[in-house]
Amino acid sequence: MKKNFYWILTPIILMLLILLLNSCKKDNLKSLTLQEKIADAKNWYINQAKNTSNHLSTNEGDSILIKNEPEWDKIQTEILEDQSLAIVIPVKTNLYELSQKEGELNLVISYKDSDKKFKMLNHFKENVSDTVKLSPLKLYHIAFPAIHNNANTEAKVKNITVDDEDSVKYKSLKLNKLQSLGKLKENLIMTAGCTHHFWVETHWQDGIAVSETWTYLYSTGCAGGSGGEHEEQYPTPEDGSPPSDIDPTLDSLSKIIKNHCLSGPQLSSLTELFGRFISGDGNTEWACLHKKQYDMMISKGAKFSFCTNTNMSAQQSYNTVNNTFNFQSDFSLSLTNTFEHEFFHAYQDNFLTNGTDQYAIGSNGNYPNGYPNIEFETALYGDIIRDRISQDALNNSNVPQPIKDEYVVWLNSITANNTKYPKTFSDFDGQYYYFMEKFKQYSGYANMGAIDYNLKPNSLLNLFSTSNCK
Ligand SMILES: [Zn+2]
Repeated sequence: MKKNFYWILTPIILMLLILLLNSCKKDNLKSLTLQEKIADAKNWYINQAKNTSNHLSTNEGDSILIKNEPEWDKIQTEILEDQSLAIVIPVKTNLYELSQKEGELNLVISYKDSDKKFKMLNHFKENVSDTVKLSPLKLYHIAFPAIHNNANTEAKVKNITVDDEDSVKYKSLKLNKLQSLGKLKENLIMTAGCTHHFWVETHWQDGIAVSETWTYLYSTGCAGGSGGEHEEQYPTPEDGSPPSDIDPTLDSLSKIIKNHCLSGPQLSSLTELFGRFISGDGNTEWACLHKKQYDMMISKGAKFSFCTNTNMSAQQSYNTVNNTFNFQSDFSLSLTNTFEHEFFHAYQDNFLTNGTDQYAIGSNGNYPNGYPNIEFETALYGDIIRDRISQDALNNSNVPQPIKDEYVVWLNSITANNTKYPKTFSDFDGQYYYFMEKFKQYSGYANMGAIDYNLKPNSLLNLFSTSNCK
């Protein structure tokens, strides 16, 4: 018996040794040359694409295969600051023939050691004179925005529209978890004769379709006149209430939206922004905190307006008096970090008994006392939940380095090195107003109202003490 046992064991040990040697060998591989990286990326992509099929589908139930053929001989590359490689490949496609639109499709691959990602970037040309060519670098940044490390990578297709070289707008509406075209048809047709077209990626495993991702492309025949802009109307949440099992994102936004003054594509962007925000962009702690605030507002029946305001200098704002989120541009509609800040302002407004109207900038442009409190509390919220690399509250070249350092030490201390939240005012070690003073002095609030020493960060403390997010 014993002898037999060793006979079995010896080959296993040998195999383990070989595996170990192999894995050591892998680690020791010399870094690849550019050509080798490109070849590796190409193989990787072909392997990925093998398990995906793409269709142009409508809510009427039509579905046509989109044929894509990357032109590998027209490859362009760019090495980024972090040493990752951006690879852009033009794609020959029948999408434009099918849609009867002019356009350009690019495959963008982000290649960094073992971390590879790809996106298909669709650019419908709005008019014939639209001849703008985007640089590989720009295409890369549109495909993989650096807003968050954990940006949603689920949909492999993204749409861009380009007005001029400096202003790039992109839109994509993901309708995940759609089970069937029949259901889509039932729930999303809002106007007779109005057809919505989607790019549908189907992912296959062993011959079985395991998931579908829908990206909105364009609409035809919808009400709103002959203007191209109006044709792009995507059905708004107000037009009907899509059931939550179909699109939880659209549904969670629809619960807090009172009205909006956004175009169809802008509403698509807002829907995507809100979806990313509420899911914490993949960070479970942030998702938990965002959801906590959202749930509190739902329980209070809070509703908001969403608009654009091209006159303001900030990317986004929350108007506490008319409960409106304003976005400066289409680009502003993509910024989740900023939205987190503005959403917290809405939380303050709903949490405090009398709201925050009294701290709003007056119509005469005057800043009321307590204004720095509201802003510092919000900046501190962002700083507590984020790493210590950049600080919202003292992220300013005017701030002397020793004060920045002191602030970081304090942040680490009140969070026990990122392991807990401050939950009572005494958890701030008596330094809360000290750093608010520095914030007021150095971060542009010197002439924006006085600090109200009776106004404690109660919204923040309530959020942290009632949530189990950390
Ligand atoms: Zn603010």
